[in-house]
Amino acid sequence: MVKITFKCKQCKKIVTDYPSNKKEFCNIKCRNIYYKGNNNPNYGNKWTKEKKQTLSNKLKGRIPWNKGLTKETDERVKRHAEAISKANSNMSEEGRNNIRIARIKAIFPHTNTTIEIKTQKILKDNGVLFVPHYPFYQGKQGKKNCLANLGILFYLIQNVGKN
Ligand SMILES: [Zn+2]
Repeated sequence: MVKITFKCKQCKKIVTDYPSNKKEFCNIKCRNIYYKGNNNPNYGNKWTKEKKQTLSNKLKGRIPWNKGLTKETDERVKRHAEAISKANSNMSEEGRNNIRIARIKAIFPHTNTTIEIKTQKILKDNGVLFVPHYPFYQGKQGKKNCLANLGILFYLIQNVGKN
């Protein structure tokens, strides 16, 4: 198929791509910027409590198609699992490293847990400056400790007296 040229809706850069991809932006960043605020079809949409409840009730009891299935019992799960492990084993060391770095930066969960909120409140009330979800490292894998709370404390301990 022949590639076409089009103008990115955000930055107006000229991009070439296959028409079947139906792209409107040069990259995901431009798309995100464009759909912020009043360009977003959901802009100004407010969900009422009732609306949320209706949807919540509708989704309750819905069973995901792959629930309880394993690669031993289901062909589709097996194919999917094989595809993933193949892709993973083909990944270069550089690719693995990129993911490691990205994971350190990722904040998960996206919202603070109750204990985090409590700790952060104590710190704020006492006028302590802190960095929430400060990543600290475990070994060469560069894993982020799941106890982000401990991370805050650790960061504080490490930095006490430095100023
Ligand atoms: Zn662009």
